Amino acid sequence: MAGKRWITETLYDEAGIRMSYEVERVLYEMQTEHQHLVLFEHKWFGKMLMLDGATQVTSRDEFIYHEMMTHVPIFAHGRAREVLVIGGGDCGIAEEVLKHTSVARLTQVEIDASVVEFSKEHFSEFTGPVLSDPRFELIIDDGMRFVAETDRRFDVIIVDSTDPQGPGAVLFTFDFYAACKRCMAERAVMVTQNGVPFLQPDELVSSVGHFARLFVDAGCYIAAIPTYVGGHMAMGWATDDVSSRRATVQTIAQRHQAAGRFATNYWTPEVHQAAFALPRFIAEAVERARRS
Ligand code: SAM
Repeated sequence: MAGKRWITETLYDEAGIRMSYEVERVLYEMQTEHQHLVLFEHKWFGKMLMLDGATQVTSRDEFIYHEMMTHVPIFAHGRAREVLVIGGGDCGIAEEVLKHTSVARLTQVEIDASVVEFSKEHFSEFTGPVLSDPRFELIIDDGMRFVAETDRRFDVIIVDSTDPQGPGAVLFTFDFYAACKRCMAERAVMVTQNGVPFLQPDELVSSVGHFARLFVDAGCYIAAIPTYVGGHMAMGWATDDVSSRRATVQTIAQRHQAAGRFATNYWTPEVHQAAFALPRFIAEAVERARRS
């Protein structure tokens, strides 16, 4: 009997690194207008979504990335009402944002309608609560064009993009970050998916270098996500309001309390603050980028 299929992540081919996953069942596979999409069942990680050979989300460890990309900027800001998500097709980030009753409107700008369509069927745990929430607005467009043209202003921008390849490449450019700054309200915070520094050092250095030319406070915070292979994942941080990163554990805990103290599985006020304490090799890369 033929063995089971294995699906391999090719994101790190250049580094000579491949992660392969034994497939229980392929749930969905297609070449969309923008990228190759495959969703399969894995015995440990559950549902796994890959776009262009890069793992995007798994049902087993999604909570770590989604909670840290959402609750850190929103609780750091403290009064976020208008939130913009760029990318985020599976709606995992949107589901966490809408747990914040203080948020009046969440706008998500996703380039690939197929990712949202397929997520309605295969990630209903995210899309169910999101698509039925009147505060949610979905725009199918290139994130670069949206931030370059919109006249709206946002308190928090969350860039939940693919890696800097294909349609996602433009979301790591200076022009994109400058356009994001243009539509940020006073005290606004922007966070970005910024790769795994140990295996993708240039991605973080490049983005933080751009941030440092545009914002007073430019850096990153970290979390470890099992299927984002290579150790810590970096989440880019950019704002002109330095006080938001310095919010104390007490203040963050009070804001969580005021938000109804909704349940989390990774994020806590202590983890929030600790995430900005960077290991030396990442701190030095950030410092180099700031000076570049
Ligand atoms: N958390 C995942 C990660 O860290 O790799 C990302 C998840 S989410 C599925 C990424 C989304 O970004 C995809 O749905 C993709 O279609 C979208 N995307 C890529 N380039 C884009 C662009 N230029 N504008 C808007 N959305 C984009």
